[in-house]
Amino acid sequence: MRLIAYVGIGSNLDDPVAQVQEAFEELETIPDSVLVARSSLYSSKPMGPVDQPDYVNAVAAIDTLLSPEELLAALRSIEDRQGRERGGEKWGPRILDLDLLLYGKKKIKTADLTVPHPGLHERDFVIIPLAEIAGNLNIPGRGSLQSLIKLCENHSLKKLITGK
Ligand code: ADP
Ligand code: MG
Repeated sequence: MRLIAYVGIGSNLDDPVAQVQEAFEELETIPDSVLVARSSLYSSKPMGPVDQPDYVNAVAAIDTLLSPEELLAALRSIEDRQGRERGGEKWGPRILDLDLLLYGKKKIKTADLTVPHPGLHERDFVIIPLAEIAGNLNIPGRGSLQSLIKLCENHSLKKLITGK
């Protein structure tokens, strides 16, 4: 069954704006899927260790026939192609991070995959770009996106490049 999945994109190494733009191009090549929306690009302050560059973040909407596991595998292979190194410290700097934020209305909890992505509901760098491309969404278990935006107090986000 076709459904819409949302993917969070983040980078803070090796020309992050270019990495995020390249990630959008790569997302267009995922089999049995169509990239249907791209948010603007935003800059955000790092969440983890503060001694690292600011992040560039965006969100994509993908109309897909793939299973969540297949989609996660496709996202990992894009991260690898763009040179993501694994095994760094948690929340440490990275060339590219692609997270499966939402998979239709499904809740998933396996060893490899938690959907909705944990943390989605409290991260301004996720919910603001998400609202830009899907303002009326409901986040399973968390309520409406609009109510989450109201709860998310301190937006350190800056819009860098307007999406299409
Ligand atoms: P993080 O995104 O938390 O900084 P990673 O990108 O290295 O870290 O991902 C760590 C693990 O998170 C991956 O091995 C993946 O299996 C798991 N994971 C669980 N849920 C998700 C999700 N919704 N999207 C992406 N990865 C997920
Ligand atoms: Mg990740």
